[in-house]
Amino acid sequence: GPAGNPLLSVRQLTKYFGSFAACSGIDLDIAPGEIHALLGENGAGKSTLVKMLFGILEPSEGAILWNGKPAVIRSPSEARSLGIGMVFQHFSLFEALTVAENIALSLDPKISLAKISDEAAMLSQAYGLPLDPKAHVADLSVGERQRIEIVRALLQNPKLIILDEPTSVLTPQEADRLFETLFKLKAEGRSVLYISHRLEEVRRICDSATVLRHGKVTGTCDPKQETPASLARMMVGADVSDV
Ligand code: ADP
Ligand code: MG
Repeated sequence: GPAGNPLLSVRQLTKYFGSFAACSGIDLDIAPGEIHALLGENGAGKSTLVKMLFGILEPSEGAILWNGKPAVIRSPSEARSLGIGMVFQHFSLFEALTVAENIALSLDPKISLAKISDEAAMLSQAYGLPLDPKAHVADLSVGERQRIEIVRALLQNPKLIILDEPTSVLTPQEADRLFETLFKLKAEGRSVLYISHRLEEVRRICDSATVLRHGKVTGTCDPKQETPASLARMMVGADVSDV
């Protein structure tokens, strides 16, 4: 669509588990080339929301719009073919296999391992994600494992990449490296949906933020214009004293 139109919009998105609403009437817009934070405490509904965007959970109510058009995302492969990539909080990697073999599992079986290795090596170089395609996952650190997931997502050339609490498993140095990767994705015009409960990093790297509490949106803002206290108030409620 024309410049300024959102890449992804969510309207009144709701997910019930039995009678419990983990997400309730969520509205969200993500522009092209923006790093958008999804901020909220544990249990706020962040993972549930992005699982609906990635076709893992079926919404109970509401709509997802992709480039302004209603989208029904029934599986991760449908999400990937739309242009949505995801880096999960908990990785699904086979320890006994190599990096390239793991990546191959999520791709068309007709693509050769040599070609996958070449492309993975090229992407890891281009995006500052050092990774040896021939390494066995069992020998890799958790930070390296996350890089596999990022490279795997990038191989599909996503327009939007979702990362669920990526820094929770990283050292501060690895987190800084990840932020450089995200800035490069942004510079290319890709969008990032960045889930976190860490106010400092959200204020540092994100252009906008949607704050969730008990499954509902409590605020949308430019986190750089907020104080840590004002963001914390959106996360935990207006009834608490200054943080
Ligand atoms: P967050 O990612 O913000 O920590 P979640 O989306 O994981 O929050 O969870 C939101 C709420 O929904 C929590 O209370 C959680 O226990 C509940 N929940 C998440 N997944 C399920 C499920 N599959 N069945 C029942 N309740 C769930
Ligand atoms: Mg979560």
